[in-house]
Amino acid sequence: MDMAYIEKILHLRDIKPTAIRILVLGTMLNHNSAFSLSDLETEMGTVDKSTLSRTINLFHQHHLIHSIDDGSGSIKYSVCREECQCSLGDLHVHFHCDRCGNTYCMEGISIPNITLPPNFRLENINFVMKGVCSQCISGKRKRFSPKKESCNI
Ligand SMILES: [Zn+2]
Ligand SMILES: [Zn+2]
Ligand SMILES: [Zn+2]
Repeated sequence: MDMAYIEKILHLRDIKPTAIRILVLGTMLNHNSAFSLSDLETEMGTVDKSTLSRTINLFHQHHLIHSIDDGSGSIKYSVCREECQCSLGDLHVHFHCDRCGNTYCMEGISIPNITLPPNFRLENINFVMKGVCSQCISGKRKRFSPKKESCNI
């Protein structure tokens, strides 16, 4: 992963690029699907757990990553596109594969327009579709294998 690129992204989000933040963001960017705190803990065994969770919270506050509740019981995160401000207009659909357990951002599919009854105020939408991802359909991935390959969606 290109260090200069990682530093640039941190600067864009007003985050001071410390060594640990660069390391954490580099690990996040290696993911082709959403990741949880415990995924990162496993991958970054040498990093202190509370540092890791503070870093995730900081990234989340600065809209560098967005959170996804895919119904699996642990909150997942995914790195936002550069222009994302995590506003309602930036929200997109997520896809959870029941076979491999991975969750993917479907950034090309926005949330349908929703009209609420009077006096209801929309603040967040969690739109998760479930099914089988392309890797699992093509037989390229075995059940719960390491989350490394890309899903090419
Ligand atoms: Zn975002
Ligand atoms: Zn899958
Ligand atoms: Zn997403």
